[in-house]
Amino acid sequence: MDKQLLAMLVCPVCQGKLKLDKDASELLCTFDGLAYPIQDGVPVMLDSEARKMSEEEKLEKAQQAAQKTEAE
Ligand SMILES: [Zn+2]
Repeated sequence: MDKQLLAMLVCPVCQGKLKLDKDASELLCTFDGLAYPIQDGVPVMLDSEARKMSEEEKLEKAQQAAQKTEAE
C-alpha cells in the first residue's frame, strides 16, 4: 500500500493515526481498538465495517507498534 496514502488516512472515529498491519491487510486504530479492512488494496474507512479488537489484541498491537517505532 502507498505510504503517502496511508499517511493521509485517519480513523473516522477519533481522527487518530492508523497503523498498517500488512499480514492481516488491516488498518488498526489502537486507540479505539478497531481494525479497518483493506479490500483489493482499498481501505474501507467505515466504523460499521471495522473489526473490533479484543483488549488483549489491542495491547499487543500497540506494543508491536511501539517496538517498531523504536527500531526505525
Ligand atoms: Zn480511532
